[in-house]
Amino acid sequence: MKAIKKVRISTDAFSPRQKTNFLPSWLNKHVLLILTLAILSFQSSEAQRAKYVFYFIGDGMGVNQVNGAETYLAALDGRIGTTPLLFPSFPYVGLITTQSADHGITDSAAAGTALAGGKKTYNGAIGLMEDRKTPIISIAQKAKEHGAAVGVTTNVTVDHATPAVFYAHAENRNMYYEIGKQLAPSGFDFFAGSDFMSPTGENEPEGTPDLYQQTTEAGYTIVRGYDEYLAKCNKADKMVLFQPKADSEEYVQNIPYKVEQQPGNLSLQQITRAAIDFLSKKQKQKKGFFVMIEGGMIDKACHANDAASYIHELIDMDSCVRIAYDFYLKHPKETLIVITADHETGGLSLGRGGYQLNLDKLRGQKISVGRFSRDLKRTLKAINPNEFTWEYARNLLRKNFGIWDVIEPKASDIESIRAAYDKLAAALVSGDSKLSNEINDFTYAAAHTCDRASGIGWQSGSHSNGYVGVYAIGAGADQFTGRFDNTQIPLRIMKAAGWDK
Ligand SMILES: [Zn+2]
Repeated sequence: MKAIKKVRISTDAFSPRQKTNFLPSWLNKHVLLILTLAILSFQSSEAQRAKYVFYFIGDGMGVNQVNGAETYLAALDGRIGTTPLLFPSFPYVGLITTQSADHGITDSAAAGTALAGGKKTYNGAIGLMEDRKTPIISIAQKAKEHGAAVGVTTNVTVDHATPAVFYAHAENRNMYYEIGKQLAPSGFDFFAGSDFMSPTGENEPEGTPDLYQQTTEAGYTIVRGYDEYLAKCNKADKMVLFQPKADSEEYVQNIPYKVEQQPGNLSLQQITRAAIDFLSKKQKQKKGFFVMIEGGMIDKACHANDAASYIHELIDMDSCVRIAYDFYLKHPKETLIVITADHETGGLSLGRGGYQLNLDKLRGQKISVGRFSRDLKRTLKAINPNEFTWEYARNLLRKNFGIWDVIEPKASDIESIRAAYDKLAAALVSGDSKLSNEINDFTYAAAHTCDRASGIGWQSGSHSNGYVGVYAIGAGADQFTGRFDNTQIPLRIMKAAGWDK
């Protein structure tokens, strides 16, 4: 009883009737309310400024790609449904349109330019308007102007379209050398990727230093692999993290796919950890940082219609979001994490007629389709043609794709694999030195068997205009709901970070 009485007294003490006694007559109830709201909104916008911004771009990651990965995880547990990944579970989710200025279906350059600079442009453009001259200033360049430390990272080459649009301006995305040449002059603090695609320029005068030398002379420390990063990060002013030389010699265009990664390979998780570590140390006067992290191989896997590889890539990018999320948990009021995609790739469908979906059948795949065919080419060059028997071929598919193991192929699947094998074996015996078409057909006979067993369908080996999602948490994340255009994303991030001024 006493407690109740006490509460009533304290409530009465703050009733408007009591307060009016202490207020001047001009300060009526309404003015007070407006002033209070103004103070509150000022305080919340100050407290909510995104000082640390993580911008994840899953290249080619349409809504079906995300759903497929979550459905795969549930299927591994023997369940129909989804096992939620972290980023799709973030509190703010929206749908994004992606078409470019000149095509109903965008490429990564135009979509990247929209995501980096908030302007529509033509397919192929790197940070340039449709007039092919006027530069589009990226959110990364804006963040730098405002004193933030800046990182641009990917698991493909650093001069590829998506990372390039954040620091370079070029008429065409294929001008790899010209794009790479602009990396050091950007002055950004941290870059990471598999390598440079074209370290030397064809039109440069004799004796022009290559991009490694140009970048080093501009004050960057180039390291290869995570161990070398750890050894040199404390003394470095600005850094570029590439994969180990041997991995670039094996395949320069990307780090190895997650599904086939070995210890010693550079991983997207290591890139994410290095970026956070380095940018946290380099932020000047505690002005925060901006980092773009691209999961660039979701797109590559979907171009190759390689379902298992894209799923592993997407889950890997989610684990990188988890690393950023751990940072967010330490700085929840000052961190913004936004995840989106530039476009959908492959016209992926979950279902190919009928009602069966068995994505767990993809679990036997241990290598990307691209790597399998490269390795097979090498193997066939090394062995005697007679060794490549039907049993040998079946063993390869069992080991690498789980066919005749996790997947029991149908008679029609066996027929198409056998036909591709016969053609390849014949070309081998006749001494055809190229073999590329035959290896490709044999590889795809296997990949299509995996698609049919799991229920995956592909409309093409290119992009589509499907919606992509945007997912956000943290300071300013409430701006990322509803349906809007990709050009809005960087504008809303800049507003959240105060870099729009
Ligand atoms: Zn693509």
